[in-house]
Amino acid sequence: MKRTLLVLGGGIVGLSCAYEALKQGWRAIVVDRGEIGGQASGAAAGMLAPFYESGEGPDAFFRLCLDSFDRYPAWTAEIEEAAGMSAGFVRSGSLHVALLEADTLSLHGRLAWQTRHCAGLEWLDGTDLPRVEPSLPSGLAGALYCPDEAHVQAPLLVKALATACARLGAQLLPHAGEMTAVSQSEAGGLSVRFEACGTIGADALCCCLGAWSGRLSDWLGLRIPVHPIRGQICAYDPAPVSLRHIVFGPQAYWVGKPDGLLVCGASEDEAGFDRTVTAGGIGRLVRAGGRLFPTLSGAAPAQSWAGLRPATLDGWPLIGPVPGRPGVYIAAGHYRNGILLSPATSAAFGRWLAAGGGAGGDGADRAFRPDRFGAYVAGEREGATTA
Ligand SMILES: Cc1cc2nc3c(=O)[nH]c(=O)nc-3n(C[C@H](O)[C@H](O)[C@H](O)COP(=O)(O)OP(=O)(O)OC[C@H]3O[C@@H](n4cnc5c(N)ncnc54)[C@H](O)[C@@H]3O)c2cc1C
Repeated sequence: MKRTLLVLGGGIVGLSCAYEALKQGWRAIVVDRGEIGGQASGAAAGMLAPFYESGEGPDAFFRLCLDSFDRYPAWTAEIEEAAGMSAGFVRSGSLHVALLEADTLSLHGRLAWQTRHCAGLEWLDGTDLPRVEPSLPSGLAGALYCPDEAHVQAPLLVKALATACARLGAQLLPHAGEMTAVSQSEAGGLSVRFEACGTIGADALCCCLGAWSGRLSDWLGLRIPVHPIRGQICAYDPAPVSLRHIVFGPQAYWVGKPDGLLVCGASEDEAGFDRTVTAGGIGRLVRAGGRLFPTLSGAAPAQSWAGLRPATLDGWPLIGPVPGRPGVYIAAGHYRNGILLSPATSAAFGRWLAAGGGAGGDGADRAFRPDRFGAYVAGEREGATTA
């Protein structure tokens, strides 16, 4: 008899954990309150930017990002093969542009330590920039050039992962309605009841509820301080400027996608669980584009949308088993980097699963322990995030 893993949440994190379990011979059931990939994962720009995302130094978070990044080409190729579709992986390289001399200091700081981890990382003077990225004007202060950074089409990757999981026998249950009860028997058997699809039993449970992860604090007995940070984002179609690289500016970023779209993101606002797109949020992105690319000035995006990033109190994800709840795992709180971090997250989850939740973790895993914020106290705000 195959053991059954129940995954709560059908975003990229839940799907990649399900995929890992299926490869280990588990049965997997992925349940989502809404659409599979319908929240943050489907809204993401899909950048794989471990160097851009780590300014401080080579800490555990940077090592996790780099580990995940290194896994990406083989991981996506395997999923594409299993699903029979492309996820739009492009190793474009990136430019982190400084408009003014004052903006260059932090970039030189990054260059000093990141150069040990990325061959070819270099500083480009403003006069060199139009040669490397012809759409950029001359007269900028310079840019940190990273030849390695890449991007995927996040909605395609999610679709490919869902297809790969289904082909390996996973049951995907979207629109399951609200979770109304969770319980664990003395023998360890788990059971979760959903409004629209009844009660599901399982041998292991992986909680991947994104911005809604605080929902289970009470039952898990853990503080899960995950809160939503809204990201508003837009796309030009057709792209008024054709970019060779991902371009990061001080107020926005731009990524040219293989399907011709130019994606520009993203705001970071606290708006609770509200995913509304506002004129102010998109307007700021549009103005930032006009300041950097002369050809974007006056152009209007064809599409705009928003998603809720799952942010933790310390900005690092929660990955690992829940102490005192055998067979229960959390993989959540990936904030701005859930797309980048999915291969390493699911690999870590796979190690814990194979070890039965026991000694599967190495030092890096320990930095992301789900119990690091302590025990849940009834009535705390995090546990009440039920929107
Ligand atoms: C605008 C924007 C741009 C981004 N760009 C990037 C990027 O370039 N690179 C990158 O790496 N990351 C990026 N991110 C971050 C990335 O999207 C997230 O970190 C990642 O998608 C989180 O994945 P997840 O599976 O944890 O969450 P989600 O994708 O939000 O999935 C959680 C799922 O849980 C479901 N759920 C919630 N409550 C319940 C319940 N009670 N029962 C069942 N299911 C439930 C939801 O419906 C949802 O489908 C971006 C995010 C945004 C918003």
